[in-house]
Amino acid sequence: MATAASGPTIARNFIEGKWVESSSKQVVERRNPANLDEVVARTPKSTREEMRMAISAAVAAFPGWRDTPAPVRGRVLSKATILMDQQKEELARLLTREEGKTLKDSLGEVQKSINILEFMTGEARRLGGETLPSELPRNFAYTVKCPLGVVGAITPWNFPVSIPVWKLAPALVAGNTAVLKPAEITPLTASAVVRIFEEAGLPPGVLNMVLGSGSEIGDELVKHPDVRALSFTGSNDVGSALYASGARLLKKCQCEMGGKNPLIVLADADLPLAVESAVFGAFGSAGQRCTATSRVIVEEAVADPFVQMLMDRARMLKVGDGLAYGIDLGPLVDEHQLETVLRYLEIGKKEARLVVGGNQLMGQGYDKGHFVAPTVFDDVPWDSVIAQEEIFGPVLSVIRVPDFDEAMRVANSVKYGLASSIYTNDATRIFEFIDRIETGIVHVNSPTVGGEAQMPFGGMKGTGVGLREMGRVAVDFYTEIKAVYIDYTGQKRQTSLY
Ligand code: ADP
Repeated sequence: MATAASGPTIARNFIEGKWVESSSKQVVERRNPANLDEVVARTPKSTREEMRMAISAAVAAFPGWRDTPAPVRGRVLSKATILMDQQKEELARLLTREEGKTLKDSLGEVQKSINILEFMTGEARRLGGETLPSELPRNFAYTVKCPLGVVGAITPWNFPVSIPVWKLAPALVAGNTAVLKPAEITPLTASAVVRIFEEAGLPPGVLNMVLGSGSEIGDELVKHPDVRALSFTGSNDVGSALYASGARLLKKCQCEMGGKNPLIVLADADLPLAVESAVFGAFGSAGQRCTATSRVIVEEAVADPFVQMLMDRARMLKVGDGLAYGIDLGPLVDEHQLETVLRYLEIGKKEARLVVGGNQLMGQGYDKGHFVAPTVFDDVPWDSVIAQEEIFGPVLSVIRVPDFDEAMRVANSVKYGLASSIYTNDATRIFEFIDRIETGIVHVNSPTVGGEAQMPFGGMKGTGVGLREMGRVAVDFYTEIKAVYIDYTGQKRQTSLY
């Protein structure tokens, strides 16, 4: 940890429409994970008092934003869509320097965020309820969606542009005011997102951001009585504790946590296609995504040729600085993540057969970052540690099974339930898979990663609680429904009608 005096690049908080330096003297230095010589940002460990100021600003801004017509709120998002599109390259480069993913992955993430803004702009004109027939004559019954008030968004480092966007866009379009607490290690990308909303014309106080530690200012946001809802993405430990605290205070909570996503390959599958998807899903973003393919469950009849093709393909991948041309996967985000992944590699070597990678990359081009070789384990027992726990790194486990039924049992044997995929052309198996798989996102002949702005995102079991994010349902989390009855008889109610 550095002191505030050690450099000029200290990220700032955004409170009541102003960029303000934290009063805290404690600063966390963020270095480029592909080049540790480069300091990208310094994040202040803001104080609880600063978080309280941000919440107060959001409370004060709420009535004005709530009363702004939804289509007018939508215009701010429309402007933000245009601004983000104009800043796409610049934002993607910053994302790569701060988080480490390749420029191609960063551009994909920014494009996804643009798509979400575009979709939510349209939702501003569709914030409708239902009109239903009343049981009574000359009575009018309908529902209307109302904002909640102040909402808190707590976000992780792995998608530091799109996760804030997919929480903030529906929250704001629905008329809430918000406080964002982004991950400590990606403060500049979060600031760039907030600046886009600012430039798009959000009134002061409608969106605020406070930088710092989860256990301090994150905790303040979770426990503050003026915060009505919490949308969290991150680890299971923090998410389940947050859900418990939120429940005690009767807050609406939405927690999106881990995944251990299976890709099933049946004997009739197009094997080269399945291999491409497994590689893309397992090693894209260096495996640091909650929808990463971490288990391939393959029918024994085709396991040998499948694994051979997978090994050949994984060995071709180029690891390096995500800003360089032709790189397939960048570094792990930080030392902590590196240690975690290396620990799992050692566990894997005892539990299964290592066939590709399995080590940290050292030497020329690698000595200034946290690089790990794309790794494949074969003959992985379905109940082993590496087949059950989320690793969040470029590590793929191949589990061989005798048939489809065993593939389904193994696929559902983990505590998570985010994304899944099957490769087959057998229509019966496809529909059985869709019926029986315990995940919130289901792919057929497509990779486990990737989701579209208009489709819900989220999972079952240990992956998530609360309503889904993205898609139309995202707005439901950020709204209350009022059931309205209007009687225009001008007469006393005939109780016998009930
Ligand atoms: P990750 O391993 O992805 O960093 P975490 O769950 O540790 O996942 O962090 C996700 C987000 O939650 C970050 O913004 C972090 O600062 C925040 N956070 C961590 N601990 C707490 C906490 N006790 N209360 C609220 N937020 C927290």
